[in-house]
Amino acid sequence: MKYIGRFAPSPSGPLHFGSLVTAVASYLQAKSKNGLWHVRIEDIDPPREFNGAAEDILNTLLTYQLQWDGELVYQSQQTKRYQRILNYLQENDFSYYCQCTRKIIKQQGGFYLGGCKNKHLLKNNNAQRINLSRLDIAIDHFHDQLHGRINTPINDDFIIKRKDGLYAYNLAVVLDDINQNITEIVRGADLIETTTKQLSLYKILDKPAPTYLHLPLVITASGKKLSKQNKAQAISKINAPETLCRALTFLGQNPPQSLSSKSCLKILHWAVIHWNLNKIPKKNEIQS
Ligand code: GLU
Repeated sequence: MKYIGRFAPSPSGPLHFGSLVTAVASYLQAKSKNGLWHVRIEDIDPPREFNGAAEDILNTLLTYQLQWDGELVYQSQQTKRYQRILNYLQENDFSYYCQCTRKIIKQQGGFYLGGCKNKHLLKNNNAQRINLSRLDIAIDHFHDQLHGRINTPINDDFIIKRKDGLYAYNLAVVLDDINQNITEIVRGADLIETTTKQLSLYKILDKPAPTYLHLPLVITASGKKLSKQNKAQAISKINAPETLCRALTFLGQNPPQSLSSKSCLKILHWAVIHWNLNKIPKKNEIQS
């Protein structure tokens, strides 16, 4: 089977060093296996998006010579397909509507306890939740390509369409990864906990699941995660070769010093040939 990987940034800010590490690792993993590397813009949460962020992310990838294969996919253009599948889930009792507010859930100890499952509520202005009791066995662990077995708490019936009408990340990401035939997901360790939710969806939809590899997160000297929400600094488009080598060093690939004076294309060429998964530190966070 052909390897198909992807990088799926949300346009909630410019590409920072942490997202460059994810882009580079997913690219190298795909290219070292002679596979395809897709880029998908996850623009389904307008309140968190910034004007021009998607273009800026794409321009930065191209500055670093991270050229994607095939068509770019924008999640905002996939919503008809999402809705079709949401309707299928609802019609087949794989989901239900829920009127619980955040306040109610907080009062119940912060966990959704399944209160709306048997209420047969109508759509109205309600959220739509997956009905995990339709699975024979609850999914509470998965195998990570870097970390090995990862146990996660059993999931509650998570939201697949929000009360405000927006499609939930866990739904959209799985439907697009299925649609694009993604065989492996390489992403940051901040998403480890979403994985068993996503695997539950593959099971309910009766689709083969991809493999997963969660990379260490870049944290600042003060222990803060680099993220677009934390307004992490954009990576430079000027010192691209140097920054690219820094990303390879972060990933444990030990690029030779002399490489940083070469072009990004040459650096990536070296990195594809020398890519070694076993050298990536098996950690969830690393200061950089
Ligand atoms: N869109 C997500 C982000 O930018 C990544 C989703 C994923 O890789 O599964 O954090």
